[in-house]
Amino acid sequence: MRLWESAGGPPHAILLAGPAGVGKSLFAAAAAQRLLCESPRQAADCACGDCHSCRIFAAGNHPDFRHVIPEADAEEAEGEASDAGDKKKASSQILIGQIRALEDFVYMGGHRSSTRVILIEPAEAMNFAAENALLKILEEPPSGVCFLLVTSRVKKLLPTVRSRCRTLTFGRPGLEEAKRWLADQGEKNALPLLALTGGTPILALAESQKGRLKTFDDMAASLFENEGDFLALASRWESHLKKEGGLKMEELVATVQKALFDLASFNLTGQLRFFASREKQVAAIAARADTSGILGYYNELLKARMLASHPLNPRLFLDDIAARYLRAIAPSRS
Ligand SMILES: [Zn+2]
Repeated sequence: MRLWESAGGPPHAILLAGPAGVGKSLFAAAAAQRLLCESPRQAADCACGDCHSCRIFAAGNHPDFRHVIPEADAEEAEGEASDAGDKKKASSQILIGQIRALEDFVYMGGHRSSTRVILIEPAEAMNFAAENALLKILEEPPSGVCFLLVTSRVKKLLPTVRSRCRTLTFGRPGLEEAKRWLADQGEKNALPLLALTGGTPILALAESQKGRLKTFDDMAASLFENEGDFLALASRWESHLKKEGGLKMEELVATVQKALFDLASFNLTGQLRFFASREKQVAAIAARADTSGILGYYNELLKARMLASHPLNPRLFLDDIAARYLRAIAPSRS
């Protein structure tokens, strides 16, 4: 993609938008390396991988590159214990200080050439003050600077920021393409993983590496093969929250939502998006249940998902969801 050869070099800011897990981050890193490369490969228009610039980029210490991510993500990447009692909790936002800290870098010339690249991800993690500080820079962009903004929630960004970026929209790859990519990475369970992640191969690979296919499979079993007892269902879910490498509450709620999505989708279109391997069970439940009740609870859960990161009482929250889920999928009386 020859983004940088249009009139007068690369745009000052490129917004890489699209669903999570389709490769935006990998593309952004490759683009950053390409922009800084001293002898890019002309035919493929990619970084050479051999020059000094490419080597220090790969080693993670290129002086003309900045990677701006939330503090909490940085700690996770470094494997620091997040439960260090008295330590202040790392922010999951990108804060104004992080954007202000870029100013010297942005307004001074580059070290190795005049090009500087800043990768901000996820861009929607910038809080309001940070985004406004970025907007100030983008309003009078210094030459030779290219911002790469990666987001899977483009609408959360200020329209004024969006309008100053060239947007590249990423879609989901086709199933065959995604399967082939996962097979190339040595992944044997491509289909169920893709089903669970809504067809996004990079998320699928990440879930597999965390060994979570089994967790999700048990979640699927709990959703489609339960005895109709909400307390038992909530207990089963609770065990997944407590287990090491288990689910976060938001992920658990999202999984319940995916089940409702597939039940309604099966009745409306005959298609399943997340639980294709359980088509028989989904079909049996969907045939007896009331589609509008399923959709109604699906929409309610959208709101519950916002509370899910910090419910006052997690167990009560689970009991409530389990009870309502069972009611939504119960055979209709008509
Ligand atoms: Zn190079």
